[in-house]
Amino acid sequence: ERVVRPGADDVERAAEAALRPRRLDEFVGQRVVRDQLSLVLEAALGRGRAPDHVLLSGPPGLGKTTLAMIIAAEIGRPLRVTSGPAIQHAGDLAAVLSSLDEGEVLFLDEIHRLARPAEELLYVAMEDFRVDVVVGKGAGASAIPLALPPFTVVGATTRAGLLPAPLRDRFGFTGHLDFYATDELEQVLVRSAGLLGVELRADAAAEIATRSRGTPRIANRLLRRVRDWAQVRGDGRLDLAAARAALEVYEVDALGLDRLDRGVLRALCTRFGGGPVGLTTLAVAVGEEPETVETVAEPFLVREGLMGRTPRGRVAMPAAWEHLGLTPPAPSGT
Ligand code: ATP
Repeated sequence: ERVVRPGADDVERAAEAALRPRRLDEFVGQRVVRDQLSLVLEAALGRGRAPDHVLLSGPPGLGKTTLAMIIAAEIGRPLRVTSGPAIQHAGDLAAVLSSLDEGEVLFLDEIHRLARPAEELLYVAMEDFRVDVVVGKGAGASAIPLALPPFTVVGATTRAGLLPAPLRDRFGFTGHLDFYATDELEQVLVRSAGLLGVELRADAAAEIATRSRGTPRIANRLLRRVRDWAQVRGDGRLDLAAARAALEVYEVDALGLDRLDRGVLRALCTRFGGGPVGLTTLAVAVGEEPETVETVAEPFLVREGLMGRTPRGRVAMPAAWEHLGLTPPAPSGT
């Protein structure tokens, strides 16, 4: 059921690590961000300084973590990885910051989920390379400024709009990652098949790419499932027939929608007459967290023109009814 979910668990993360591009020139697609970033890094290297802080935004699985690793590799510095939810208190962040080496890259995933006090500490650290360590409590507490060596923050967020403006402004460069085109996903798949040591036929690559929701993580995951199918039920060849059969087993439809996506659309059409319906109500109807529906299913459904977001709630677009083989209700009041 999880096969096309853009998030990743530990097992997936391990399988993914092997397929990650290590350098900018191996990174497929996202030409604009890649070009801009390569300028930022080259200029910083030329000046012998740490690059400006970088903010990467975009839906899960498009390569934010990969780019953070690439940034560190390109400037030849170590990478420290943490995330907004992992930092409970400002003190946790102060401890991370004060242990950074000169020029180190600090990757802060889900930066929009940092607690407010940590966020405020981060502004100062990013701007002045300083943390104020608070000593003592209550009226007797005092802040001792601690100078930090220059470093680069790479922040990742699924939505840059969620970041408070003062934090967003501390980033010298913001790159927005967008869904990949089908031919770019085919390149990702061909590269991954090479690394996995399997032969992937061009027609199979095209089929997997069109069902990967514009997301390299999903493309790689589907590739591994097709490989499983070919090994267990097929003759080992990753051809069009194997791709189609495997994707059917995993309930990935022609548009790349999985059970969650179809569940959301079906609920929207059949239980709420096509909407508008609020996100929370819709999420309850499919037994999921609102955040899952909002960040996992919705961006792709909206992009595919299946679902619309209006001020009054989510609505089913004509293509949703068609995709599910349902008839939309006749417009009322006519
Ligand atoms: P999340 O926010 O969910 O962690 P992410 O945006 O950080 O997602 P990554 O973990 O960087 O995504 O990428 C997921 C997988 O997709 C990686 O294993 C990587 O191999 C592959 N991938 C991502 N972008 C590219 C790309 N441009 N070229 C080749 N492979 C890519």
